[in-house]
Amino acid sequence: LKGDNHDMSDSERDVERALRPLSFDDFTGQKQILENLKIFVSAALNREEPLDHVLLHGPPGLGKTTLANIISNEMGADIKITSGPVLEKPSDLAGLLTNLEEGDVLFIDEIHRLNPVVEEYLYSAMEDFRIDIMLDSGPNARTIQIGLSPFTLIGATTRSGLLTAPLRARFGINARLEYYDAELLSRIVTRSCGILRTPVDDNASFEIARRSRGTPRIANNLLRRTRDFAEVKGNGRITIDIARIALDALNVDYDGLDEMDNRILQTIIEKFKGGPVGLNTIATACGEEAETIEEVYEPFLIKEGYIKRTARGRQATEAAYKHLGLSAPNDGLQ
Ligand code: ATP
Repeated sequence: LKGDNHDMSDSERDVERALRPLSFDDFTGQKQILENLKIFVSAALNREEPLDHVLLHGPPGLGKTTLANIISNEMGADIKITSGPVLEKPSDLAGLLTNLEEGDVLFIDEIHRLNPVVEEYLYSAMEDFRIDIMLDSGPNARTIQIGLSPFTLIGATTRSGLLTAPLRARFGINARLEYYDAELLSRIVTRSCGILRTPVDDNASFEIARRSRGTPRIANNLLRRTRDFAEVKGNGRITIDIARIALDALNVDYDGLDEMDNRILQTIIEKFKGGPVGLNTIATACGEEAETIEEVYEPFLIKEGYIKRTARGRQATEAAYKHLGLSAPNDGLQ
């Protein structure tokens, strides 16, 4: 449920597209970020200049790609979408940049995974709207300068800590997306149900929202699966009973933790006496990539107070013991 969209069928992708907000007014939550962006966008429009470069960071599924699209819509600009690992060589980037028209948005997802050589080319592109291309090598080496149309770079990253300082410094606008509370997610679920023409009870949309790990993408995914249950097991309406049956069948527990969340907590507690234990050790024991645990699972578990990061590794809190129905040892836990 957490993964990206590559395992979706075409019709699921159509649904996903239909649910994507297209304007600032469609977008729920992230109030402060939205208020600021509205001001920056309208100031740039008044000056008839491209918007300053924008860095969006935060865990997966909180709306970075959605916001990038909205910004380009609101600027009346075209958007070109790529991602850090796809830009292997400077020429990949140069090809994209030289095709941008004035005011266009270039969206680079996973910008922390840019090849360092490619990243260097981005510096002058962002700062002076030019790139220096090296022709030949050895004694014949020379560089030519290519001017670019002024554009807006929007970078998205789940790991802003991995961004180099020179790259980070070149973004004039920096926004950190936060997890959504259940109230906001419930509004997103209700809006999605409206678009899908699926009747839903308020307490049912709240139940889905509450168990969606603070993440709109997960809320919409759970909603789609719950709609299947409503159509097959009920009369098409999503009621609280249908929502509970569906969420239980999907192994989303009462607090919204999924199988891997629970496995991580169980591992720390049962195999490593509650920790502290290193990330790589947890990853090996859980059969998951350390990077995925750090980017996807851990931020939510920390935010909800189930684990703590200490200098010596990750430690389970009393809430984690309680969640698993265990009693916490008293030595030093808080
Ligand atoms: P990733 O980093 O994994 O690409 P992301 O942060 O870019 O994730 P999006 O792809 O923008 O996330 O959002 C995931 C889905 O959640 C979208 O399909 C969109 O419909 C929905 N969504 C995200 N944010 C909102 C929001 N604020 N209101 C309504 N729907 C939202």
